[in-house]
Amino acid sequence: MTQQKATNITWHEGDIAREERWGALNCTGLTMWFTGLSASGKSTIASALEQALVNRGVNCYRLDGDNIRFGLNKNLGFSAEDRAENIRRISEVAKLFADSGTITLTSFISPYRADREACRELHHGAGLRFIEVYVDTPLEVCEQRDPKGLYKKARAGEIKGFTGIDDPYEEPRSPELTIKTAEKSLEACVEACIDYLVEAGAIRPA
Ligand code: ADP
Repeated sequence: MTQQKATNITWHEGDIAREERWGALNCTGLTMWFTGLSASGKSTIASALEQALVNRGVNCYRLDGDNIRFGLNKNLGFSAEDRAENIRRISEVAKLFADSGTITLTSFISPYRADREACRELHHGAGLRFIEVYVDTPLEVCEQRDPKGLYKKARAGEIKGFTGIDDPYEEPRSPELTIKTAEKSLEACVEACIDYLVEAGAIRPA
């Protein structure tokens, strides 16, 4: 749990209610949180989904694990503590994006259940929807894909604390959506996400 450091600060409530903003901008904010092993397909699906949503005129934005580590979280590594802080910051950013009326797509391994649950709580506490998407791809398949050669390095001992190899991945217990990329095409995976959003009333049917 991160402690509040600053003391002489006061929350300033704005003049625009969320409903007024979303109504005027004709949008719905929420967070779709993709979690799964490295190379499971999180970034690929989130990117394709982002394109599909933009094609429909839906306000959406993608926060990508590696990309965020180049900027906002460039001072964080992969220790359990840094991974938790990585997810805590992203959770806060995702919450802000969702509040602004954006369908926010995050692709982070986010291996620890407690961190993802904290993100869920954060969203629910703010009255925002949190959709956990488990990109459920077997380790063997991820290792075979190995698009960045990271599994090879981890097996050779060149990367320590690699999720799935020598660091745990805690599977979601009750994700809103599970996607099995080893059994479905990318298009079908994206379609499953779109169907979920339509059924949840977040976007209109095509
Ligand atoms: P992650 O973001 O989870 O680390 P990436 O999206 O970077 O994973 O890599 C996933 C790899 O798996 C890509 O090379 C992608 O082309 C491949 N892949 C094969 N089938 C699928 C699928 N159905 N959905 C998503 N990715 C797939």
